[in-house]
Amino acid sequence: MEPIIRIRGLEKWFGKHQVLRGIHLEVLPGEKLVIIGPSGSGKSTLIRCLNGLEEFQQGEVVVDGVSLKEAKNLSTVRREVGMVFQQFNLFPHMSVLQNVTLAPLRVRGLGPEEARRKALALLERVGIADQAHKYPAQLSGGQQQRVAIARALAMEPKVMLFDEPTSALDPEMVGEVLGVMRDLAKSGMTMLVVTHEMAFAREVADRVVFMDQGEVVEEGRPEEVFTSPRQERTRSFLQRLL
Ligand code: ADP
Ligand code: MG
Repeated sequence: MEPIIRIRGLEKWFGKHQVLRGIHLEVLPGEKLVIIGPSGSGKSTLIRCLNGLEEFQQGEVVVDGVSLKEAKNLSTVRREVGMVFQQFNLFPHMSVLQNVTLAPLRVRGLGPEEARRKALALLERVGIADQAHKYPAQLSGGQQQRVAIARALAMEPKVMLFDEPTSALDPEMVGEVLGVMRDLAKSGMTMLVVTHEMAFAREVADRVVFMDQGEVVEEGRPEEVFTSPRQERTRSFLQRLL
């Protein structure tokens, strides 16, 4: 099988500070990757490089056969890669329904009726169809994050990226968002998830990738990485989580 994401020799600097130091990573269609690692290790930067939110200086990122090296490909890749952030980033002045229909109307060129029907089906899927006419500020954090997931799915992406999607939530709302992500995983979506939710990683991940100081230090099946990490850096990171 051809990888849907291929990252080769990816290097990224912010000024003189190198934050990604030669990342190699391939993701197969339908695979679920969980990326773990200490704060500042480059997890968000890596994820953001995958949909062109960050430029990089060296190496190659290819998504579904399209290279991000060429600026003209940016919009193509962004259409195929959905992203969910820690801070839901919904448009506050738009209703839930408008948040979800916006990109399909503007970017995919869907008609208003079709966009609306699809959006309602997605809101149903994430369990909040009854909130469609509310504004983001009227929803709980967990509900807002589920809208953000529906909004990303509305573009029918081939890959979904999640950057600590539950880190800003009150504890009682973490489960409802992880539940939606678990269903999405079962549907066969290719997913890259940065998270500290180790139980979720154990259950859903095909592969766990441990990053430290801009490098992939170790990767493997969750039971390997969590139970018998090969690298000392992985071991001490996991110990600090306990
Ligand atoms: P993580 O998500 O693993 O916490 P990040 O990718 O956010 O790590 O950050 C990696 C490094 O890059 C950190 O040292 C961080 O301070 C730095 N960094 C991130 N974003 C920027 C930016 N926009 N400008 C300068 N430095 C940044
Ligand atoms: Mg981060």
